[in-house]
Amino acid sequence: MKHYLYLVVLLMCQLTWGQIFDPPPIIPNPFATDGSTYTPRPGRSSATFVDDDVAEEVTVTATAEPGNRFRAPLVEREKTRVAILGYHNFSYTRPVSEMLMRTTELREQMESIRRAGISVISMQEFLEWRFGERRLPERCVLITLDDGWRSVYTDAYPIFREYGYPFHLFLYTRYLTGRGDSMSPAMIKEMMQNGASVGSHSATHPYPSTWRKHERAGQEAYVAFIDKEIGDSRARLEQLFGPVNTYCYPGGYNDETMVSRMSGYGYVAAFTVIPHKVSCNVDPMRIDRYMVFGTDPSIFRSAIDFRGSETRTTAAVAGAQPGLLPSGTPLPPFPVTPRPAEVVPCELPTISAQLGGVPGIDISTVRMQVSGFGRVPAKVDAASRTIQWTPPCRIYMPYISVHILWNNTDGSRHRAEWSFSTDQTVTVEQ
Ligand SMILES: [Zn+2]
Repeated sequence: MKHYLYLVVLLMCQLTWGQIFDPPPIIPNPFATDGSTYTPRPGRSSATFVDDDVAEEVTVTATAEPGNRFRAPLVEREKTRVAILGYHNFSYTRPVSEMLMRTTELREQMESIRRAGISVISMQEFLEWRFGERRLPERCVLITLDDGWRSVYTDAYPIFREYGYPFHLFLYTRYLTGRGDSMSPAMIKEMMQNGASVGSHSATHPYPSTWRKHERAGQEAYVAFIDKEIGDSRARLEQLFGPVNTYCYPGGYNDETMVSRMSGYGYVAAFTVIPHKVSCNVDPMRIDRYMVFGTDPSIFRSAIDFRGSETRTTAAVAGAQPGLLPSGTPLPPFPVTPRPAEVVPCELPTISAQLGGVPGIDISTVRMQVSGFGRVPAKVDAASRTIQWTPPCRIYMPYISVHILWNNTDGSRHRAEWSFSTDQTVTVEQ
């Protein structure tokens, strides 16, 4: 017994000594507390992350240029691609769904970003880049989280702090009570001291059917509804948290009436749920994001895979399909159905790609991935060089992204992606 107690005391002492003499590394806080406008603040970029593990896994060639807090060199603005990730809810134990991700998986994803040497930027850095006021590394990720789930504070925030990653919250004002699964304003203010920034996600998070109902009531009524949801929500968030100038369309739903009023409310950028990389000439009122579902790891993988956009750019320069692929446009260099950005009325659309014009392709290697389904058992017809698949069940996501992957006979790997949407009056909450 005496020896046992001695052992316990010794272990406790070791714990204490360990905490005193081997403290966790201190990461300088690079975050401004009011980082929600895009006015450059030269002082805030001077901090650096100290993480010697990264050097073993990626070639670090970061320059010593002023204003570069990243472990990768800054490039011309046109060469940067940003993958914007959209998350919702997390849990260590509850069943996963599209909107709820296992917290351990979030951590694995943040680790993948670090290992790949991809720079995680803040919303302010993103806006400065978009509006011509700063350069960034070639490959960047911007982390956004929708709605204001309490698990962002309990589960995700400690992980973002551990990695030193900034993140942006899109909040809808009705869900700021701190009750149930929602966050309180105090939790959000605390996170804003440590990397969080805030944008609006409307007042009541209307579904597409609700927007349409108000639209049918006439233009005046519709504008009044938009003023309340999009305009007033910004004013309320500013009362609580300071300047707000970003908006995220609930479920990605937007139309010309909304878009035309955004800058009048004071927004400089608005975000959708269409999965594409973003370049510096993106329409600031329709910025694409990858919604990372808890049930589909392929979405995250394609988000942080920057080779696809390089392949498309190369193909455009080489003129593989003249006229089909304008430089920098994120479209596949071959005919596809449904067409990119098409709204299809059917919930079981046949998805196909006709690869006859792709030089050097090894048709036996062609495969298809569809968001929400992962890799799908698509039929490949070697004679017509067509890959085709029809979903076995109703697609209930408003936006669907398709990836076509193939190898050329010289062994090089290629991919192309596009997205379309289904017209449905009821969609999942995003
Ligand atoms: Zn939402």
